[in-house]
Amino acid sequence: MKRFTCSGCSLLCDDIIVQSDGLFISEVMGACLKGKERFDQVSAKNRITSPLIRKDGELKEVSWDEATKKAIEIIKNSSIPLLYGFSNVSCEAQDVGIKLAQKINGFIDSNASICQGKILNKAKSLGINLTTITEIINKGDLIILWGANPAETVPRLLNKVLFSRGKFRMTGREIKTLVIVDPIKTASFRVMGVRDLPLIIEPNKDIDLIRMLKEECCSVDSIPSQGVAGIDKNDLKRLLLHLTGAENGVIILGQGVIQPHPDYNLVEELLELLQMINERQEKGRISLLLMGGHFNMAGFDHVALSSFGVSGKLEFKHNQLIKTDDTLVSKIEKENFDSSIIVGTDPISHLPHSLSSKIAKKPLILIDNHHTATSHIAEVVLPTAITGIESGGLAYRLDQVPIELNKIINPSNNLPSDEELLNQLYRLINQGGSE
Ligand code: SF4
Repeated sequence: MKRFTCSGCSLLCDDIIVQSDGLFISEVMGACLKGKERFDQVSAKNRITSPLIRKDGELKEVSWDEATKKAIEIIKNSSIPLLYGFSNVSCEAQDVGIKLAQKINGFIDSNASICQGKILNKAKSLGINLTTITEIINKGDLIILWGANPAETVPRLLNKVLFSRGKFRMTGREIKTLVIVDPIKTASFRVMGVRDLPLIIEPNKDIDLIRMLKEECCSVDSIPSQGVAGIDKNDLKRLLLHLTGAENGVIILGQGVIQPHPDYNLVEELLELLQMINERQEKGRISLLLMGGHFNMAGFDHVALSSFGVSGKLEFKHNQLIKTDDTLVSKIEKENFDSSIIVGTDPISHLPHSLSSKIAKKPLILIDNHHTATSHIAEVVLPTAITGIESGGLAYRLDQVPIELNKIINPSNNLPSDEELLNQLYRLINQGGSE
């Protein structure tokens, strides 16, 4: 029995006990259901264990040689390739992915760009602190989940931050107040106690609440008597008192707040509210935790920053990084790409149909370990080992802490790791297509 880190989500729990002989895993202890599912993926029905290419409209198993040749042919015939995903792979694989993008003059971006990356950039520009899980455990007295449902997406997060007893406090759950702002009563509401504050907000009215809080930041006396966004005056008063009175508060932001809106920028306004509270707070502060889902969603920005000094999307021309106003969405909207290399993600399921249909029109190379909607439209599917089980590497936890993942068993069918496969494609491009 040995202790390993789970790569089932961005919490990267490092207390999972695994029994294995190096070939098979016989027992997993300490993981949540989602973590167990991650380990079950090794032998899942939708696992891909051989390379595939599309022939006569159907995906057929082929040799590695044939599959990589086809992939190189697509890459060589492409002048503006799009590389996307990279949140379910190690930092080492992300690094090779960026080098490949530079080599083939591509545009590369990770899932974070349509998720937490937007928030991170704005938080940096406003000087808002990101906090760590350890900080929340040890010092936190207020946890606000805004548009976030960790009970289902990062299942052990609340166990750790809400129920743990901190090092610097003699009390744990008793002094931590949980506030949840959400239009639906998610599974996370089930952990709420009598001192907590559940706020069911009317759909798409978060902006009204944020603007009211900005206006009333220092005064509870002028809260509208009819309430705001479906939340009554008393609850608003309690929310305001918590926000302005917490010693170490944290707002955990989830997917619910990052949906774009044509008339306003919700994230920006929410972060401005935080900035305002922190400027006026005398004894405490509110910080931020971003709740990305994929296990290494935070890693891509760190790798891009250390390689090229910028976080997020990167675009290359003549093998040099260029400045670009394009985003993943604008690239796809304008069809400003002629092939795509998708790594460890499923844009055909995740993106709106107006975008996914455009991706499906161009030749697509998929690097992944299981079948998805994207594998069904791919020209080439190159399967890889499951990181954190069949291969190791570095990943960044959701609070930006680097965590090493270790290999537990040999990969099915001797599959390469994402890093090895991307390196092989890079080498083949360098050598003109043959090895
Ligand atoms: S919370 Fe995430 S990292 Fe932790 S055991 Fe569950 S799936 Fe794995």
